[in-house]
Amino acid sequence: MSWDRLLGQELAKRILQNQIEAGQVSHAYLFTGPPATGKRQAAVILAQAVNCTQNPKPCGVCISCRQIETNAHPDVRYITPEGGSIKLQPIKDLLAEAVLTPNEGLYRVFIIESAETMTREAANALLLILEEPPHFDLFILTAAAPVIPTIESRCQVLRFQRRNMARSQAGYPPADTEGSDLGRNRAEQLVLDLAQAPLRDRSKLVAELEAEEIDWDRLLAELLSLYRDFAVWQATQDPSLVLDMEAIERLYPSAVKSTKPLSACALAILEAQRRLHNNVNRRLTLEYLFYNL
Ligand SMILES: [Zn+2]
Repeated sequence: MSWDRLLGQELAKRILQNQIEAGQVSHAYLFTGPPATGKRQAAVILAQAVNCTQNPKPCGVCISCRQIETNAHPDVRYITPEGGSIKLQPIKDLLAEAVLTPNEGLYRVFIIESAETMTREAANALLLILEEPPHFDLFILTAAAPVIPTIESRCQVLRFQRRNMARSQAGYPPADTEGSDLGRNRAEQLVLDLAQAPLRDRSKLVAELEAEEIDWDRLLAELLSLYRDFAVWQATQDPSLVLDMEAIERLYPSAVKSTKPLSACALAILEAQRRLHNNVNRRLTLEYLFYNL
């Protein structure tokens, strides 16, 4: 596991990476955000990073990284709800363990999942150690709902966003409503179709799309967001700069078949958007665009 696997959480990722590089890791983190946004994954990567023996951290291949990946590291503990809540006893066990120096690693790491389910007693017990944690302890709490404020105030809080929200903050259309998913899917299909269609068949593609009564604004916006990612990937190969890494994995091999640089494709889409807004003939604009992708 490495930071590359944490998709769409650029801000949280950058903060954690910088802290690790600077050797300024906090002793307690609270990762908050909706389910399935990578909070647990981030906790595992952070646990690996603080105990990793190589560089850059986490390397994913040293013994420590592999033990954590397979949940076999003696210094990394998970605390999860049982019967819907985290009760006092597992936190008492944690307190007993947290004062002992690590067995093998540099840090003892306690990953407390769904921390919002802690009972009042459990939360108060955890506070005892969060107030003055031993220097070798790292607590990572994940929560999909608010935790009690006294716990939150002891943690560095990182908010995890829905991935499509991260997209829209970067100026791209959100992909969470049914209609826009359709636009997104159609744009992705179009990337595949363009890779297959020789230049002489490109105007046929326009005709087919027109027959579908497509929402062209939507389609071009989605297409632009895809080609923006393709162009960034072509230039940098840096996953942290890409908005949708899954789309890169699926579509980049097709997109890169274009005879044009992918940044030129993105510019061609921008130009087509501008022409359509200025009421230039749609058919001509789109045919011209498709010849240039
Ligand atoms: Zn490692």
